Amino acid sequence: QSGVLRGKRGLVMGLANNRSIAWGIAKAARLAGAEIALTYQGEALERRVRPLAAELDAHVVGECDVTDGASIDHVFAEVEKLWGGLDFVVHCIAFSDKDELTGRYVDTSEKNFTTSLAISCYSFTAVAQRAEKLMKTGGSLLTLTYYGAEKWMPHYNVMGVAKAALEASVRYLAADLGEKAIRVNAISAGPIKTLAASGIGDFRYILKWNEYNAPLRRTVTIDEVGESAVFLLSPMARGVTGEILHVDAGYHVVGMKNPKAPDI
Ligand code: NAD
Repeated sequence: QSGVLRGKRGLVMGLANNRSIAWGIAKAARLAGAEIALTYQGEALERRVRPLAAELDAHVVGECDVTDGASIDHVFAEVEKLWGGLDFVVHCIAFSDKDELTGRYVDTSEKNFTTSLAISCYSFTAVAQRAEKLMKTGGSLLTLTYYGAEKWMPHYNVMGVAKAALEASVRYLAADLGEKAIRVNAISAGPIKTLAASGIGDFRYILKWNEYNAPLRRTVTIDEVGESAVFLLSPMARGVTGEILHVDAGYHVVGMKNPKAPDI
């Protein structure tokens, strides 16, 4: 993958710490030659993001809370000042009230439904609106999703509904932006122990289940997601848009428990 993103400038949103999927992608994109800009959500995360940014010679273009349209505008204005254009955006952002990532979906409150969909789905469209203006010669938009969009998963609840909407929005955005040579794709990552994932009930069980039942008999790493992201962001994937690429050790093809799997 060496050099496939040379000369490309990309914004990576959703870095919280060195376990974040955004970190796996930012590192891999940098290694492939891209220049990187990063955002952070709130002061507490700024303290974690700045040293990570320094490791990649990345620009920190400011605080961005996607519930605030003005803060998204601000970040894209900073990117325009910095580079005058933009080649890719990686959106690694999701949120739901932890209390509703356990138990039954049917008990979801309207308030948390609205918040989860706004942060985990609409924000990608909000970002696409701003990115379109800066991608004058085409570009690539990438978001992160999970298999809980396609099938029921324990505890994933409203996030499954939000990810289903996010995956549909990938297809609609791809169709809208294709004539401007802007490609829109998602990676459906297998479960990885991150800050966001720790909010999901019984997450350890989900990790073990995937490890025992995925065709590759293991889970995936943020570096593996990062390298697949580089492919989607690069000209190697110039014919690919509207796609949901599963980077999940093959778990999505499995229809039944591996009879050799130990009990969890
Ligand atoms: P993470 O906690 O490292 O990242 C989540 C990020 O979302 C954080 O940086 C947080 O600041 C950001 N965020 C939340 N609310 C925000 C808001 N209002 N404004 C701006 N940013 C906000 O966890 P992660 O697992 O790396 O999550 C990244 C993406 O990957 C998410 O979309 C998640 O759903 C997806 N994903 C994760 C897994 C997994 O198992 N970890 C699997 C598939 C998909």
